[in-house]
Amino acid sequence: MSQQRNKRNQRSPRPPRPINEGWIPRTKLGELVQSGLITLDKIFANNLVVKEKEIINVLLPQLKESVITINMVQQMTASGQRSRFKAVVIVGTDGFIGVGSAKSREVGPAIRKAIGRAKLAVVPVLRGCGSKECGCGHTHSVPFKVDGKCGSVKIYLIPAPQGVGLVCADKVKQVLKLAGIEDIWSKSFGDTRTSENLVKATFNKATFNALKNAHKFNFNL
Ligand SMILES: [Zn+2]
Repeated sequence: MSQQRNKRNQRSPRPPRPINEGWIPRTKLGELVQSGLITLDKIFANNLVVKEKEIINVLLPQLKESVITINMVQQMTASGQRSRFKAVVIVGTDGFIGVGSAKSREVGPAIRKAIGRAKLAVVPVLRGCGSKECGCGHTHSVPFKVDGKCGSVKIYLIPAPQGVGLVCADKVKQVLKLAGIEDIWSKSFGDTRTSENLVKATFNKATFNALKNAHKFNFNL
């Protein structure tokens, strides 16, 4: 018993707990990541499918999360309505972005589930300086005009010179800020007046899709 106590004393101050304590990889990619044999660039360059959120936790520990909406959704059953919460979450850091949504009977689990899904959907953001008026060559904007769609909302992201800032709706700003884009002009089409919550989610998804589309042209990986 005294030995146990000594052990406990020795351990303090306690080291910070690693995020993936007790993670047993279930996929080959997970094993590679855990043994440190693969980098994030290689995963995206080879279009490897990330099936475990721990992979992203290990390779992108600086990822930030932001909850966009929490909605109550109902389903009619024989015994009445069954209500659940639907959460839409974006995760991102400089040069990476992911969006995910999930439903659960309670708010907390819905958000956690959505974060997990958003992590699996993380894509690199193709950044550059596509503005004719700027031409500085830094990565503060997008390299060319990109568009993305979600439902009836379509959004164009247009490269802007340095110092312009994010010229777009607040809902779009959230995504772009997380992705590390500083200057942009934007244009949106479609039913952009739909109920606030839906628009938020839709706009974010459309912006995410635009950034994802840009990734298709990313040959420098
Ligand atoms: Zn520039």
